[in-house]
Amino acid sequence: MQTKNIAIVGSGLVGSLLALYLRKRKYQVTVFDRRPDIRTVEFSGRSINLAMSVRGWKTLEKIGIADEVQKLAIPMDKRTIHVTGEPVYHQYYGKKGEAISSIPRGVLNRRMITLAEEAGVVFRFNEKVWDINLPEAKIYTGETEKSEWTEYQYDMIFGCDGAFSRVRHKMQRRSRFDYSQKFLDTGYKELGIPPNEDGTHRLDKHSLHIWPRGKFMLIALPNLDGSFTCTLFMPHEGENSFEELTNDDEVIKFWENHFPDTINLMPTLLNDFKNNPTSALVTMKCYPWTYWDKVALVGDSAHAIVPFYGQGMNAGFEDISILDEIIDAHGDSDWQQIFEAYQESRKPNADAIAELSYRNFIEMSSKTADPDFILRKKIEKQFSEKYPDQWLPLYSRVTFSHRPYAEALKIGDKQAAIMDQVMQMDNIENIWNTNEVEHYILELLEEKYYIKK
Ligand SMILES: Cc1cc2nc3c(=O)[nH]c(=O)nc-3n(C[C@H](O)[C@H](O)[C@H](O)COP(=O)(O)OP(=O)(O)OC[C@H]3O[C@@H](n4cnc5c(N)ncnc54)[C@H](O)[C@@H]3O)c2cc1C
Repeated sequence: MQTKNIAIVGSGLVGSLLALYLRKRKYQVTVFDRRPDIRTVEFSGRSINLAMSVRGWKTLEKIGIADEVQKLAIPMDKRTIHVTGEPVYHQYYGKKGEAISSIPRGVLNRRMITLAEEAGVVFRFNEKVWDINLPEAKIYTGETEKSEWTEYQYDMIFGCDGAFSRVRHKMQRRSRFDYSQKFLDTGYKELGIPPNEDGTHRLDKHSLHIWPRGKFMLIALPNLDGSFTCTLFMPHEGENSFEELTNDDEVIKFWENHFPDTINLMPTLLNDFKNNPTSALVTMKCYPWTYWDKVALVGDSAHAIVPFYGQGMNAGFEDISILDEIIDAHGDSDWQQIFEAYQESRKPNADAIAELSYRNFIEMSSKTADPDFILRKKIEKQFSEKYPDQWLPLYSRVTFSHRPYAEALKIGDKQAAIMDQVMQMDNIENIWNTNEVEHYILELLEEKYYIKK
């Protein structure tokens, strides 16, 4: 049997990992990217990081590169909350030993491209895909939309070309293709905390640091070189917005008002603020994700989400491991069936993590500093440690389990309803760790909201 000739559009995290997976099945794989090879481009300053959790790790493990990537990772087992005038506060993410990992995006992407290349994948950088012939699996690339294009013919095409996918754009023109795109009022800007002179970190390196300020927040994730990458999330317009901060004086005044404890940590603040772009955040949904047995969308091209659960890349990697399982189950022959099973399995989960990510902005930016929320988390944690079979907190179900996102959303809503009732108990601040509270939760679980493990 002749081996399949496959094109992947996009050499980002998802495209390069999918290339490795498909090459392992001995397909001919060519990856197109409009950008230059990132291995030849100097890092512009510090590397930008991502939080990886078990869904991402599983996909790396299956292809045998988790150990290597682990060496680049810094485990973060908690949120460290910075509220002005109060001592810093730690909220542990999961059980002892559970942590998310801060991974340098550029280093990971470069490594995956090299591994894919060593496995025989062909990369065509600086080659922008302008058009796709869906039924014939043809790709058209060229310098500009108007220049002469080169035509390539494949057996199948995977669109891994991100939130503003050209492949999806072509699918959108078909009848009965659902599509929605929603920008948040909140945008973001990346800033930095450099290392100490001796190369050590200026803050606890095993934490994801949050400065929650209601409608805006600053977060910081550690890098291997001792620096932190910070992200300021803030409305584009209105009170306390990017629109208001138009010069150095305004930025400094804003910082002194809202993040005074970080001023000494951020000597490059003004430069970073001026030079780094203010970017938009979008949730994009679409369906179907596939076209017959010819074309499939994977990663952000199928489901771009806002970053507040740290799951965008993890969800994209999970797409790959689920697709791989489906290929195994279907025997690598009927690709229409494979694609259908893939999109049916992934779509509800992509919608669920989109919803959870959207909601998590409020949790991170406001609730982490709210005493009621902190108490609620304490009660949940204590109960789940005592009854692990009956209560896995939502964050753990999303981040430290492989259970479907859709299940996490559904069970999380039931748990939230139970906790709403628990928080209404008289004198809950003082009785939170008593048998009375524990029995009440058990009662609610059994009688009202029976929750399976
Ligand atoms: C601020 C922020 C923080 C985040 N933090 C996290 C986190 O902590 N954890 C997490 O799991 N996720 C996180 N994410 C999400 C994560 O970055 C994305 O989900 C992930 O990068 C998606 O990978 P992808 O390969 O699908 O798309 P992309 O990374 O967007 O890659 C698409 C590739 O396609 C190429 N391309 C596009 N169009 C064309 C074309 N026409 N022709 C050829 N090539 C093309 C691009 O050049 C690019 O290389 C975050 C996102 C943001 C914005």
